[in-house]
Amino acid sequence: MSDIAPVISQQAHRRAAYLVSALLLLVATAISPFLSLTLPSVAPFLPAYGTAVVILEGITAYLLLSQFATRRKLFPGFVATAYLSLIPLVMVQQLVFPGVFTPTGLLSAGSQSAVWIWVFWHALFPALMLFACFAERVIKIDQVDYKDLKLWLLGLVLFPLCFSLSLALFATWGSHLLPALIANNSYQQLLHSPYALLVWGLNALALCCMVWRARSNNVLYVWLSVALLASLIDVTLTLFAGSRFSLGWYAARISSCVSSMVLLGALLWEVNRLYISTQRTNELLYQQSVRDTLTGLFNRRYLESQLESLIEHAKRYSEPLCLLVLDVDHFKAFNDRYGHLAGDSCLIAVAQQLEQSLHRPADFIARYGGEEFVVVLPYTDAEGGRKVAEQLLQNISQTHIDYQGQRLSVTASIGLAVLQHNEDRAQSLLIAADKALYQAKAAGRNCVKAAPHDN
Ligand code: GH3
Ligand code: MG
Ligand code: MG
Repeated sequence: MSDIAPVISQQAHRRAAYLVSALLLLVATAISPFLSLTLPSVAPFLPAYGTAVVILEGITAYLLLSQFATRRKLFPGFVATAYLSLIPLVMVQQLVFPGVFTPTGLLSAGSQSAVWIWVFWHALFPALMLFACFAERVIKIDQVDYKDLKLWLLGLVLFPLCFSLSLALFATWGSHLLPALIANNSYQQLLHSPYALLVWGLNALALCCMVWRARSNNVLYVWLSVALLASLIDVTLTLFAGSRFSLGWYAARISSCVSSMVLLGALLWEVNRLYISTQRTNELLYQQSVRDTLTGLFNRRYLESQLESLIEHAKRYSEPLCLLVLDVDHFKAFNDRYGHLAGDSCLIAVAQQLEQSLHRPADFIARYGGEEFVVVLPYTDAEGGRKVAEQLLQNISQTHIDYQGQRLSVTASIGLAVLQHNEDRAQSLLIAADKALYQAKAAGRNCVKAAPHDN
């Protein structure tokens, strides 16, 4: 959910966000004439709804705090406080809500406790969102210092939890100090109180600010706008629902769940996208680390990492293994005569020819350095290796290197060594093949020489 999310992903997020918003508005408009329709009071609805909200808010806050901890930007941290602050309020509301655990609610709550917790909940969320929108500009900290990170995290977690728990407990035990907002389950008093306007206004203002910020490339703002729209719909439906357990009341609770859910869904979507792109980047980095950039063949690092285990395998199962070191003849002269770019084209052509000339899946080639290549032939004895080597030399000498209208060609020499099962390790096998290569050079080049072997 970062500002570096690719454009395509941002467009997909925006499209999905528009769709969810349109659906929310459509459903709210469709049911608006029937909001006060009384429905059966389903006892398990509230605890199920409360549990869902607490879990959704908790996971959302956790993911936002993780973003804050990695990017050290304040915005996700402040948004996390808005989500965290709801948890104590929702939990306490479940305990004190009449009819959930006991007819009058637990914790010696008053008849106004649950509705006042609702007011605090629906005012605190947009208020903290508004704070998140502007705090970054006021505080003027671009990135939190590493050394202050733990302190910030502690504050971002403890402040909302303690503050909203205090509000919830105040509404529970101090509700007699607060004006009555509900009578006989009817919301008429709440609707006509200034608190309704305050809560509605805060939600509307927070929504406007977030939509305004959503013009930027950060898709987090887009989804927060949807969450705030769902929250505004929740408040509007509750206020016009008339009473508890009406159609509007149930729809408002569902809208509140949607408000908790949308950001979580978007965060998980983004986490998944990042997971996939990290996998791809890892694969790319791995390929880059084992491949030679000029020829695309495996590089020396890969050869060295593989050769030892191939030798171990061959020894264990008493299989033959043959190694060829191939060196382009007079390559310095070729470079001097035609230039380095022609030399590069020549190395690419030789590499392609080598790849095309090997047919067994277990065989592999690596560029060992400069104009030297190593060919590893598992399950191959000296005789078989010599055949392959001679074929390679023939194919290379017949390869035409097209360079600036000229048809150039080169030859190569090969030193061959086979695995001596008693003593050989990768290094000694390479040295043996290299010595044989020197003999091939001394013998006039464009030929194969084998290291002495006892099998
Ligand atoms: P010999 O027949 O004995 O093998 O002689 P040689 O000239 O092929 O060998 P030498 O070791 O004297 O020269 C190797 C040359 O390969 C020197 C170097 O400039 C060239 N070379 C090494 N790597 C590259 C490369 O990536 N591109 C190009 N164009 N040339 C390279
Ligand atoms: Mg060389
Ligand atoms: Mg050479």
